Amino acid sequence: MSTLLRGFLAVVVLAAGVGLSARLLLTDIPPATGTLGQPSTIALAPISLGNPAAAAALKVRHPDTPLGTPSIPRQPPSYGYPLRVAAGDTLAGLLVGAGISPDEAHGAVTALGKLFDPRRIRPGQEITVRFRPTPDGAEEDRFLGLTVDVDYRRRIAVARTADNTFRATEEERALRRTLARGAGTIKANLFDDATAAGVPAAVLVAVVRAYSWDVDFQRAIRKGDRFEILFERFHDKTGTLVHAGGFVYADLVLSGGRHPIYRHATKDGLTDYFDPRGHSARKALLLTPIDGARLSSRYGKRRHPILGYTKMHRGLDFAAASGTPIYAGGDGTIAVAGTNGAYGRYIRIRHNATYSTAYGHMRRLARGMRRGKRVKQGQVIGYVGTTGRSTGPHLHYEILNGGRQVNPMKVKMPSGRKLKGAELARFQETRSKIESALAALAGGTEFARGD
Ligand SMILES: [Zn+2]
Repeated sequence: MSTLLRGFLAVVVLAAGVGLSARLLLTDIPPATGTLGQPSTIALAPISLGNPAAAAALKVRHPDTPLGTPSIPRQPPSYGYPLRVAAGDTLAGLLVGAGISPDEAHGAVTALGKLFDPRRIRPGQEITVRFRPTPDGAEEDRFLGLTVDVDYRRRIAVARTADNTFRATEEERALRRTLARGAGTIKANLFDDATAAGVPAAVLVAVVRAYSWDVDFQRAIRKGDRFEILFERFHDKTGTLVHAGGFVYADLVLSGGRHPIYRHATKDGLTDYFDPRGHSARKALLLTPIDGARLSSRYGKRRHPILGYTKMHRGLDFAAASGTPIYAGGDGTIAVAGTNGAYGRYIRIRHNATYSTAYGHMRRLARGMRRGKRVKQGQVIGYVGTTGRSTGPHLHYEILNGGRQVNPMKVKMPSGRKLKGAELARFQETRSKIESALAALAGGTEFARGD
């Protein structure tokens, strides 16, 4: 795995089989709850809204599912429409802009705040608001509440209660999980070839991250190497793909050697990737704490680009666009955060008694990064920049052993967890389920979907 692949050649897209199956359910999908995803119909903006902003935002109406018995006098059906969050919007401001009274907006936002911080709404996100016209249409339509999709699976609904206050409840969307397989041979580079094989970029990033302990993606991948990835897809009731999730299995065949890893949730609640012997794919520290970067300078003696004389370079430089996220190389505690001389904006993370990692020349630190803060491996700690003594945007990355910089390429990383006994037996069960899923998909029809 030490052979150099000098540059990636842009070659032809390869043909690779992508199969899908819906029969495999390796993790729990919560059952359907609530009345989410009810069929919607397109309607014109009703005049009765009397609110140009709201009318302009109106796209979809959700007719109410009839409730109760025919003996109950029918209320006019309620309707809902999405409000799209723009940069600088607050949730309360958005609601008031849709014609909701400040009092009611405040009540709804306060209720929501019990389950979700309203400041976490993001530009582009949609908040669905619901109204019901008054029976004679004399008054303004009554605000019934709102829903926010917190992520692809969780939705928070705020609804008016009988005593005219608002209450928030959390709902899980009923999603169908399927597994898909993407496999092929490297002709250009892993990213292009796996994308051509139907592997979503987000899945690929997760794969690269899981392997980043062992595989130097700058050097180890060669033309003719192979990959196979089994990943999750989540569809809603209408069959729309709402999320391409993580991956349950990956294998890289590098210079003929296989490196399969399997996702397994241990009894103590840890979900991780393990090799066939049950050894964690994670080692102590990431070798490449950044995605899509080019290794631009290795550890060792070099002529310094600014100082002009030969100097020891005690880290790895990764050239990347300014603003590219930088990840914590491992779990740990921030020991130094701030401006640090020639390093510019700088963070050092202490991982354990032996190892620390340091990150220099950042454009800025991520929010909340300060001395004493705990970080998780893969968490964004800052963004690539060119602060300090630097000729262009890059990350300067160091691994320190006992406070001294060491060559990251030569560090013998302490290996991660090794499953034993009953847990190892459970893992082998997971593994054989995954192997069966793979076998079914590898021989399956393209895009065949079971039910
Ligand atoms: Zn450097």
